[in-house]
Amino acid sequence: MDMMKTLTALVSAFGPAGDEGEVSRVIEQLAAPYADEISRDVMGNLFCRKKGTGPKVMFAAHMDSVGLVVTHIGEDGIVHAGPLGSIRPAEVLYTPVRFKNGVRGIICAEVEADVDKLKPADLLIDLGASSGEDAEKLVSVGDAAVFDTPTVQTDGRVISPCLDDRAGCLALLLAMERIGETDNDLYFVFTSQEEVGARGAKTAAWTVDPDYGIAVDVTGTDDEPGARHRASSRCGSGAAVKVMDRTVICHPRMVERLLALAEERGIPAQWDVLQAGGTDAGPIHVTRSGVYTGGVCIPCRYAHTPAALVALSDITACADLIAAFAESKLEKEC
Ligand SMILES: [Zn+2]
Repeated sequence: MDMMKTLTALVSAFGPAGDEGEVSRVIEQLAAPYADEISRDVMGNLFCRKKGTGPKVMFAAHMDSVGLVVTHIGEDGIVHAGPLGSIRPAEVLYTPVRFKNGVRGIICAEVEADVDKLKPADLLIDLGASSGEDAEKLVSVGDAAVFDTPTVQTDGRVISPCLDDRAGCLALLLAMERIGETDNDLYFVFTSQEEVGARGAKTAAWTVDPDYGIAVDVTGTDDEPGARHRASSRCGSGAAVKVMDRTVICHPRMVERLLALAEERGIPAQWDVLQAGGTDAGPIHVTRSGVYTGGVCIPCRYAHTPAALVALSDITACADLIAAFAESKLEKEC
């Protein structure tokens, strides 16, 4: 699997929270050669199973991205929009966006607006329309838009709008390709609606009823300018093994096990302690009577902005660590 080619296919697919179908079709095609069974559920989760007789392991990477949703179309043709997921107005102003039907626009605000005081619900989208009637021919209330900025590669790094979490989807796909012989019953789940509260992972984890859960997502870094240690990982320093975020405290034996596997296989790894944000690990670990849960994360600068940045070597390290865990000798108890 060519990494850049696959990543480009993944980030080009339209997939705001709640409308992940296009992303899921791209992934299904890429995953098909490595899965024994592929299915979907009502929430839009995509399950790719590699059957085994051993303990059940669920890996989860979310397909959806943040975006904006049309709330009102003004008589002047300006579209009023609200956030889908967590976005900060100052970080997204004057970003080009695209709708599912291919219509393009630009995020803007009222000319006199104080940017620092703008709320996500104050955001507007200019489609270039000259009247409300014109704009209504292009989009409707309820339509969603995603950032329409380019994906570029630069010295081992990628800059792209929706690396959160297409980079994680890529890591899962690469891992599926790399996994050797194992008895473990493996479920690679590409989840829906993570950006609005990890909703897809809730039903997915209930369905799979796994013995082990691992969320594969991006994580905040401590090497953004002025990061002040609110996150611990560094871009380019390897797979970030989740210790905690706002929604989960990973099982200590999962953290130990993942770090030991990384050491054994010579995979670059680091700790991930995140003070804000959550992942699919949140709902997975509290499913039914609890699941041994961990996280394998890709350090990502500027997530939820039109230009996030990750190191390709970190995606590779995550794929290697996921494959190592998938192949490892597991019992029902951690
Ligand atoms: Zn994410």
